Amino acid sequence: MTEAVHYFLDPNSARAVIIGLLYLAGAIGFVLSLKWMSDAKTARKGIFAGEMGFLLAVIGTLIMPGITSTGYIYIAIALLIGAAIGVPLGLLVPMTAMPQRIALSHAFGALAAGLVGIVEFFNYTPQISGFVMAVLGIEIVLGCLVFTGSLMAAGKLQEILPQRPFVYPGQIFVNFGVLGVAVGFIVALVINPGLTWAIPIIIVCGLVFGVFLIIPIGGADMPTVIALLNAYAGISAALLGFVLSNNLLIVAGALDGMSGLILAIVMCRAMNRSFSNVLFGAFGQLEEATGEHGEMGSIRTASYDEAGDILKNSRLVVIVPGYGMAVAQAQHKVRELADTLAAEGVEVKYAIHPVAGRMPGHMNVLLAEAQVPYDQLLDMEEINPEFPQVDVVLVLGANDVVNPSARHMKSSPIYGMPILDVDKAACVMVVKRSMRPGFAGVENELFFNEKTLMVFGDAKDVMGELITEVSGNRDSINV
Ligand code: NDP
Repeated sequence: MTEAVHYFLDPNSARAVIIGLLYLAGAIGFVLSLKWMSDAKTARKGIFAGEMGFLLAVIGTLIMPGITSTGYIYIAIALLIGAAIGVPLGLLVPMTAMPQRIALSHAFGALAAGLVGIVEFFNYTPQISGFVMAVLGIEIVLGCLVFTGSLMAAGKLQEILPQRPFVYPGQIFVNFGVLGVAVGFIVALVINPGLTWAIPIIIVCGLVFGVFLIIPIGGADMPTVIALLNAYAGISAALLGFVLSNNLLIVAGALDGMSGLILAIVMCRAMNRSFSNVLFGAFGQLEEATGEHGEMGSIRTASYDEAGDILKNSRLVVIVPGYGMAVAQAQHKVRELADTLAAEGVEVKYAIHPVAGRMPGHMNVLLAEAQVPYDQLLDMEEINPEFPQVDVVLVLGANDVVNPSARHMKSSPIYGMPILDVDKAACVMVVKRSMRPGFAGVENELFFNEKTLMVFGDAKDVMGELITEVSGNRDSINV
């Protein structure tokens, strides 16, 4: 292929060696970044390594031969536009909106990969080998479908688009029919790369398939789907690397693709779901269809001073943070409450469910931001055997991840999802604003358990009240 698509770079030239070394160092940066980001203690270093990797990759690309002075001007304009959008996005988007922010990045990354593929085709057709044409065709389809699919996913998560899955009979056949048409035209191009009119059809099929792929998936599954789209975008970039004979793009695309895939697998496991269930299960529709969650009994509530008293007189308290803590930005107050309890001689631990919040690691990031010591954060497997010895579990804006019906209610959309066994503790306090359900839209039987006390209010406000109660400041004010 490569006689058709090349950069006029003499492999023996000094420039080629420098570019090769820069790309090698960039690839090492990406690998180290992934390695270091897997642990909270080294995560910052990981981000830095990734940034350095990208910087080296960009420098290596900028010194490629064949870029004209006008080309550099276009690149500078593109960098300025990208920075003007990227910097505010990075600074302003809240942690709770991170999944849709990531979906937008994938959308535009995939669009770029798709556009480069299209340009390569028109630059070199019909002098394109069958192998390269096949790679190029798949790359264009992936780029297009990730673009529209990610935009749809971001729209659903941001609730600009309806979150509910939209399904109709024969949907799978329609979806795969569209994909089949694209594959058919790629085969036609492999046989005859001169069929330029086939490319627009392939592009439209890819764009339409991206939309159709997301329509039947509910908002609840979007973060997992985004991880999958990330994998597709990575594969698309790696394929483009083959087309452009760019080793760094192959390595970076493969890393991106595989890490996206592994993340999607981890998320599916944590929710006890399969890929096919995520992609075709129309999660989020079942609740209304089964309608099994009727009256579950009565609840018991606790006032702030009652809750404060119970906490102060405990020996071991476990805090279970969830999405509500992120919404309320209550992490700093949580840390303050834990410190106040520790000053009263109470041991405090945190139980972290792998899919608490809206993205993997969501709770770890927020608690790390509040300087919660990392050794106090315990994974589900570590903390679950401890719950029978725990005096009080403080469930803070978490819901689905502590719902005992996941263990036994077969009709529940969260059936089979491993949960934190908080109902095994002596007392459970649930802090939330109302009796509204969590992300999966199901009633939580924990709230009706006789050991459970509901403490209603915004997570941050309630934490403030509990700090006052536990520290005894309220008494001193009242006296
Ligand atoms: P949930 O979404 O189940 O529940 C969050 C609870 O927080 C709600 O019941 C809400 O109740 C409460 N809440 C919201 N705002 C506030 C506030 N300001 N103060 C106090 N409480 C508040 O969260 P979980 O973390 O338990 O579960 C995560 C869910 O997301 C799971 O279903 C998981 O499968 C899903 N998910 C997670 C992914 C991940 O990677 N983390 C990816 C994909 C899906 P109220 O409105 O009454 O206050």
